[in-house]
Amino acid sequence: MKLGLIYGLGFLITTLLIPQKQNVQDMDFKEKRFKMVAEQIQSRGVNHSKIIKAMQNVERHLFVPRYLQKYAYQDRPLPIGHGQTISQPYIVGLMSQLLEVEEGEKLLEIGTGSGYQAAVLGELGGKVFSIEIVKPLQRRADFVLDSLGYENVETRYGDGYLGWPEQAPFDGIIVTCSPTKVPQALVDQLAEGGKLVIPVGLKNVKKLVLMEKKKGKIVQRNVIPVRFVPMVDSKGNAY
Ligand code: SAH
Repeated sequence: MKLGLIYGLGFLITTLLIPQKQNVQDMDFKEKRFKMVAEQIQSRGVNHSKIIKAMQNVERHLFVPRYLQKYAYQDRPLPIGHGQTISQPYIVGLMSQLLEVEEGEKLLEIGTGSGYQAAVLGELGGKVFSIEIVKPLQRRADFVLDSLGYENVETRYGDGYLGWPEQAPFDGIIVTCSPTKVPQALVDQLAEGGKLVIPVGLKNVKKLVLMEKKKGKIVQRNVIPVRFVPMVDSKGNAY
């Protein structure tokens, strides 16, 4: 009799309390996400409604390791394993806005990492191709993106220094690791009118650069100083 009561109580606790806790946590994440967008993104001038909506939609906590989920909406990059990081939310918003993505455009990302940036781009209505050089990261990002239903986002394991020639040209290219010089293959794979957003420069002096192909020529401007993990080749040597 007593045992039955204990089992009964146990059942009640697992079926009623645990799912409820989950819902409370999801609500909590949603609240934090909207706050993040207002305080870290909009307040710093990333204001395009499509970007705001995309960043309100993408559940950033699902792209970071479980033990870091509670920090997912803070104003900073976070480790994602293999010595890599998911970028600060503001940088993701800024870089996405600079691309000025239109419905149906073809986009390329170098450095899939967690898949978060790719998901934000996926929300903008384009077709996203993303390359990652660390295989376990690529596989995990691919799994997360698939399970969240991003059918317009495709990832590939490989060296993004060479771009993705089979899918070129691209209307937008976003590079989330940093080389010392802009890879020529990426410039070549840019469509007419296309934009390339890339953090570039020597070790500790990286700047975010926006390049645009206009009548075959490259017009370029520096946006802000930034910090990014290096772009590396298959042996781990920095480009
Ligand atoms: N966009 C990511 C941030 C990733 S950090 C996100 O939203 O989470 C940069 C990533 O670039 C790392 O995962 C790193 O492994 C990858 N990377 C570095 N050099 C690369 C290369 N040559 N080709 C493709 N990916 C590269």
